[in-house]
Amino acid sequence: MTETATSHYKRPDVAGYAEVPYAEKERLFSEVKEDMRFSDYLYGCYECGICVAACPSARFYDFSPRRIAQAAAREDVELIYQQMQEDIWECSQCFSCLRCPRGNNPGGIITIMREVAINNGLASAKQAMEGYSRIIYKIMSTGTQVSPDMLQADAFPDWGPETADVSANLDLWRRALPSETMHTTNTGWDVADKTLVELYLIWFHTGALDMIEEIDQGLHAILQEVMEECLEDEGIEL
Ligand code: SF4
Ligand code: SF4
Repeated sequence: MTETATSHYKRPDVAGYAEVPYAEKERLFSEVKEDMRFSDYLYGCYECGICVAACPSARFYDFSPRRIAQAAAREDVELIYQQMQEDIWECSQCFSCLRCPRGNNPGGIITIMREVAINNGLASAKQAMEGYSRIIYKIMSTGTQVSPDMLQADAFPDWGPETADVSANLDLWRRALPSETMHTTNTGWDVADKTLVELYLIWFHTGALDMIEEIDQGLHAILQEVMEECLEDEGIEL
């Protein structure tokens, strides 16, 4: 299906956001533009629609990478705000849109818009992340979310020769392991405490933990508590 057939261009009657001051919308767009990646992700737009044709999300949602690129190129502050509250969460971050002949990276622009939405605690960001708190918790507190019932040699070619042995018994693993996510952590790939601490420090220093705090203070507090002991053992004070 083409963009023309599926979408209805959402213009500045921008339903539901009239109560947000224009200056606030402008401030958020400034944050997007000031990101050092922005100038490398946008060079104008031919409106050719190639990105839309390549985009899997455009097939299933009222979503278009072309609208993202155009709104940014035109500096349409109202539409960009609406996109930050709605459209950007439909993107699957596959970057098929990189085949843009103009050299744009609509998926990359969306990455920046998502980060700004999260850093500013936008309602859309909180809602979009709600379903992921369990995954975030699991990865950040154990270093992995992959358990034996998920291993497939084809999908994890860089995980060493044992992957083939484990995946040979996938059926058994899947019957034996409870589907409830947290129950599988003890049977997953055992990540050393030292590695876990290194990962935590990366998330700490890159601001990933601050982003989590912005959208889910409860989860942030739990992660801090979980990591406290590991950090102490390694003699690290933050
Ligand atoms: S990165 Fe997003 S916008 Fe680009 S093709 Fe993938 S889903 Fe579409
Ligand atoms: S492929 Fe590039 S130039 Fe063409 S519509 Fe998409 S962003 Fe614009």
